[in-house]
Amino acid sequence: MENLETIADKRSTVLGAIRAAAKRAGRADLPELVAVSKMQPDDRVQDMLAAGQTIFGENRVQEAQARWGDRFAPRREGLELRLIGPLQSNKAQDATALFDVIESVDREKLVKALLKAAEKTGRLPRLYVQVNTGEEPQKSGILPEDLPDFLSRMKQEYDLTFEGLMCIPPAAEAASPHFWLLRNLARDHGLAKLSMGMSGDYETATELGATSVRVGSALFGARN
Ligand SMILES: *Cc1c(COP(=O)(O)O)cnc(C)c1O
Repeated sequence: MENLETIADKRSTVLGAIRAAAKRAGRADLPELVAVSKMQPDDRVQDMLAAGQTIFGENRVQEAQARWGDRFAPRREGLELRLIGPLQSNKAQDATALFDVIESVDREKLVKALLKAAEKTGRLPRLYVQVNTGEEPQKSGILPEDLPDFLSRMKQEYDLTFEGLMCIPPAAEAASPHFWLLRNLARDHGLAKLSMGMSGDYETATELGATSVRVGSALFGARN
C-alpha cells in the first residue's frame, strides 16, 4: 500500500515522540531535532524546510556544499548546519565556511586544520568531540580512556573548549549503555551538549539526556 504520510506528518510524529520521551524522563527541556538530510532528494528537503525545520545534519562536506552552498543557498539564512560525518583535514576550510557546528572532531591534526582555516574564513564553528564509545576499530572517534588527555591538551595547546560530545553506538548493541557513558563523560568534563540518538533510538537518547538527536530516515523516509 502506498504510504501517504507527508514529510510534515513524519516530523510531527518524531517531535511528539521526543516530547513523550522527555516527559517520561521528567525532563523539563527538549533536545533539538537535527534533520539528517544526507542522501535525501531535494524535494524532501524542500518539504522539511516548509514544515519549519531549521537544523540540518550532513555527512559529507561536498554533498553539503552542493546542497546548502548552491542549490539551497537562497534558503541558507536562519538555518543551522551540522557536520556529523568524518572530516578530512584538507576539507577543513570548506567545512568551517559552511557549517555552524562540527560534531566529528576526533584528532589533533584536524583541530589544527580547523583553527588555521578559521583564521582565513573568520569563522570557527562550534565543535564537538566524537567519542568511539564502542571502541570499534573501524569507527572514528576518540576512545573514552583517551578523552581526558585529549581535552586537556586542546585546552592547553590551543585554548580550545568543546561544546559537547557526540557518539554513534555500535549497530548491533543496545544503545543505552553508550548513551550513559557519553553522558557521564560530558558531566565529568563539564561539557554541556550531548549529540546522541538516531532514527532507531532517539527516544532512548532523549530519556538519557541528549541535547540534540540526529534523525534521518524516520523524518525523510529511506535514503536512496
Ligand atoms: C546517517 C546518520 C544519522 C541518521 O541516521 P538515521 O538512522 O537515518 O536516523 C545520524 N547520525 C549520523 C552520524 C549519521 O551518519
